[in-house]
Amino acid sequence: MPPLRVEFVQSASRHDQLPSSRSEITVVGRSNVGKSSLLNAMANRKKLAHVSNTPGRTRLLNLFEVGDPRDKQPGLSKTMVDLPGYGFAKAPGNMRAQWQNMIESYLLERENLMMVIVLVDGVVGPTKLDTQMLDWLRANGLPHTVVATKHDKVKSSLRDKRKKEVAEGCDLEQGDVIWVSAEKGTGLDKLRGLVVSWLDN
Ligand code: GDP
Repeated sequence: MPPLRVEFVQSASRHDQLPSSRSEITVVGRSNVGKSSLLNAMANRKKLAHVSNTPGRTRLLNLFEVGDPRDKQPGLSKTMVDLPGYGFAKAPGNMRAQWQNMIESYLLERENLMMVIVLVDGVVGPTKLDTQMLDWLRANGLPHTVVATKHDKVKSSLRDKRKKEVAEGCDLEQGDVIWVSAEKGTGLDKLRGLVVSWLDN
């Protein structure tokens, strides 16, 4: 499958400031998990996710339009929201509460949210913040998929063991975790296909 067409639309501090979408997916993960690299690789654009990392946008909901490469005329019907990295959960109390509120209300109230992609660092494995997020998504009945990043960084001799550990740490079967490498391209076609199918629903 060719790279996805992805274009930045706008940022907002509240989900109700974003234009509505016919179908949307969102991506969450702790800072440094490889989110920007993955989004860039999915779209084959070097600086796409850079938009989300420009000053002032790192703590906002960043909306992108996703064109299915098979569509001739993409509209604002299929979208993706890049959520701020969990690193900000370490921010001082007040800011942390605001951040949490922004993300939680987005996840709970955004209409037509088809899938929450939870990125887990394949080298580090699921952290406490990752499992808290998964528990919260499960408790709220939100559809989610775990994607493990940096596949190339895990030594090949350790990969089977690591795949088992990551799945167990996320309380999932091994086949339920999608492994990707933004660096080597591993798993990107599979993930692109899934993104397209989630957005087609
Ligand atoms: P973000 O904070 O989640 O957006 O993470 P970045 O995309 O900026 O990546 C964090 C670090 O991990 C950077 O140094 C990347 O070069 C590195 N990284 C991200 N994805 C991969 C990957 O697939 N393979 C390898 N080897 N490094 C990666």
